[in-house]
Amino acid sequence: MRMDSDFAMTINGKPRGEKLALSVVNPATGVVFATAPDCSSEELDAAVTSAQAAFGAWRRLSFDQRKVYLLRARDAILEHADPLALLLTQEHGRPLDGALFEIQGAAQWLEAVAAMSEPRQVHEDTQHQRVETVYEPLGVVCAIAPWNFPVSLAVWKVAPALLAGNTVVLKPSPFCPLCVLKIGEILAAVLPPGVLNVVSGGDQLGPMMTSHPGFAKIAFTGSTATGRRVMEAAAKGLKPVTLELGGNDPAIVMNDVDVDAIAEKIFFSAFVNSAQICVATKRLYVHDTVYDALRDRLAAMAAQAVVGDGATPGVFLGPIQNKRQYDRVMDLLHDARDRGHKLIQGAAAPSHGYFVPITIVDDPPEDSRVVQEEAFGPILPMMRFHTVSEAISKANRSAFGLGASVWCSNPELAADIATQLEAGTVWINQVINLRPDTPFAGHKQSGVGVENGADGLLQYLKPKSVFSSPAPKVET
Ligand code: NAD
Repeated sequence: MRMDSDFAMTINGKPRGEKLALSVVNPATGVVFATAPDCSSEELDAAVTSAQAAFGAWRRLSFDQRKVYLLRARDAILEHADPLALLLTQEHGRPLDGALFEIQGAAQWLEAVAAMSEPRQVHEDTQHQRVETVYEPLGVVCAIAPWNFPVSLAVWKVAPALLAGNTVVLKPSPFCPLCVLKIGEILAAVLPPGVLNVVSGGDQLGPMMTSHPGFAKIAFTGSTATGRRVMEAAAKGLKPVTLELGGNDPAIVMNDVDVDAIAEKIFFSAFVNSAQICVATKRLYVHDTVYDALRDRLAAMAAQAVVGDGATPGVFLGPIQNKRQYDRVMDLLHDARDRGHKLIQGAAAPSHGYFVPITIVDDPPEDSRVVQEEAFGPILPMMRFHTVSEAISKANRSAFGLGASVWCSNPELAADIATQLEAGTVWINQVINLRPDTPFAGHKQSGVGVENGADGLLQYLKPKSVFSSPAPKVET
């Protein structure tokens, strides 16, 4: 299979795509390097119809039989990991080692999901009756993924949906569709036709999918603004949704930390993948006594970090993935500069492509845009605090509640702060640690429902409770 051309959708196990109208840009150059199909409404209908047709046989397989398919999918992805990673770097901009990490991580995720147990509860099993709850698949799942981790976030949906016995129509972001399209083709060789369909298209395709009557559920990752639109569309058909949305994760750094020991972890969590991570550290609250030392360490790292094309060895910071996001990040940067916030910038970025240099904003006011908005780019506001309660109340003063971290040498104090933080995931002396067996759920405006873990699997199933008594004895 060629990885650098012939991008096609996968519908009913076959490559499809009448209209190659979706231009894909390499963000390191700003130049279009490939075209992908722009799905028509007829092609979407065909994808949904094939998923509906495949559902009957797929749901009748046992959990164990479907596990075997997931493991075959893992192997097929791993077999193509290197060329997929190259392609991902080209369309995404991320350094090659990070791209390979995503592809291999997605394969490991399939394996971990395949190890999950089928849920089933027996409430009573006596001579009078057996009362049991079994869990059944929903039907055809509409899976919509963003561009920041296009492969992982697709697999986070596809793996549990398929294990549970659903079939799927998956849509990657129009900004970064190529790797996911190729994975669709790769998996067509290992999955029965129609079980996983992959479609690509422009801005019209998402709403076409969420309003399509053939779906039984919508699983979405993206911005909070789009999440609201998805939920509105789902409400018309009373469809269940799982929404993983935006975040503006705070980190609280207490006065008892070893600055040198934690600086690198905080730097990584704030800037890796050019800060395009939903759970990146996006607001850094630092105790007054260690503020200057940590700021200077982070500034020194920013000055050293190599910015450039992710395909070049040694690069840490690639470009912003797309022009729309680049414009948003630059707008936030200009706003911070225009308001006179103190900016500390790292190594110079190339002048072509969508590059933004690492920027630390030194103690901006709490109500500034750069603190209150999700940057989703390498701009980190860093604020001084004097008391723990001040830090916690500022950290919680956000509509988002995705993740948060606490950096503190006193375990009791750290645990107490963690308890008070309003977020679905809290890390203590670590950050951005996500696992397939651990529920990931945004609080507040960061999400509805759960991905990952046993709770995530349940989002793709509906309970059916069965009460059964022995048949009454026939009088003779
Ligand atoms: P986005 O909301 O613009 O797009 C996400 C996906 O939705 C894309 O595939 C897009 O084509 C599609 N879409 C756009 N409009 C739609 C509509 N009206 N109906 C249905 N689908 C539609 O988000 P993005 O810019 O691709 O991703 C960045 C955002 O995603 C950030 O806010 C980030 O925090 C968030 N994110 C959240 C998580 C999480 O797990 N909570 C993970 C990654 C990213």
